Amino acid sequence: MKAAVFKGKESVVIEEGFEKPIIEPDEVLIRVKKVGICGSDVGSYESGGPYLPEKVIGHEFSGDIVEIGEKVKKIKLGMRVTVNPQIPCYECYYCLHDLENMCKLQNYSYGTTEHGAMREFFNVKAERIHILPDNVSYEEGATVEPLSVAVYAVEQSGFQLGQSAAVIGAGPIGLMIIQVLRAAGASKIYVLEPVESKQKIALDLGADKVFLPKNWNKIGRLTEKLGPNHVYDCVGLSETFSSALKLVRKGGKITLIGMHASTFELNSILLMTTNNISVRGVYGYNHDIFKTAINLFDQKKIKIDSLITSRIKLDQVPEMFKILGNPPHDELKVIVEFD
Ligand SMILES: [Zn+2]
Ligand SMILES: [Zn+2]
Repeated sequence: MKAAVFKGKESVVIEEGFEKPIIEPDEVLIRVKKVGICGSDVGSYESGGPYLPEKVIGHEFSGDIVEIGEKVKKIKLGMRVTVNPQIPCYECYYCLHDLENMCKLQNYSYGTTEHGAMREFFNVKAERIHILPDNVSYEEGATVEPLSVAVYAVEQSGFQLGQSAAVIGAGPIGLMIIQVLRAAGASKIYVLEPVESKQKIALDLGADKVFLPKNWNKIGRLTEKLGPNHVYDCVGLSETFSSALKLVRKGGKITLIGMHASTFELNSILLMTTNNISVRGVYGYNHDIFKTAINLFDQKKIKIDSLITSRIKLDQVPEMFKILGNPPHDELKVIVEFD
């Protein structure tokens, strides 16, 4: 069978001749249906890492169970599933405290350090599986992983019913955070986004008002000069973090979801002290968050149709990485289809 393989900086290729995997007793075999291309896939394509070379990419996906290892219980042939791609050690302090996203093996996962799902058949430890209810489509199943990032960010920020929020950046994660905030009972949601097509989608998905990033101060006027309770930075640039500090209400909370460079200059940092601002970074999700994300799809609280800008075949993946790795472009979530 064919697979999309990460080779290193600016190189994702389709390779033939992959054997259909033989499963271990604690594994299942999945016939892959849909795979999403993630921002982190593109990040590794652009920079050359942290993904390992020669590994099959793909960690956001859905499919059907076609083989079950002899030690596996509660999973039946034909079940429609998605997978939590993190591979925790189960032994470290964090794993023992339900924080597998903080595991000492952090970043160890299917599609990055182990072969992922951009191939016809994918073998995985059965306990990483999440079953999709009938009401949840394969496409939704393939976006449970990024939705989990959004759910975790909102949960960890301590967002409360009736509070207001600003979301910086209307990429796939920002557009999911908008919908999670709606589902969580936000009073007002403001969005900062430079691209017009993304502004429009943000409004369709529940944002109250969208602004160009340079007009961040207009949000102050709409909130009785207080600013929103929460700001979610889904971009991760020095400018967006500085805007968040100026924008958020005194005593408010900033949640950083975008991957930030390890060093950058920060304006307005004094406000963190003088305005009692809390800043929180979030990374990944845990097993329960995955379930919450699936429930949100099951209850039709999250729409992904307008987020999916392209549906492609496996052979088109290398071409698509050239587009995604050379912004600006109009793509949001790209889905690779296997049926
Ligand atoms: Zn992802
Ligand atoms: Zn661990």
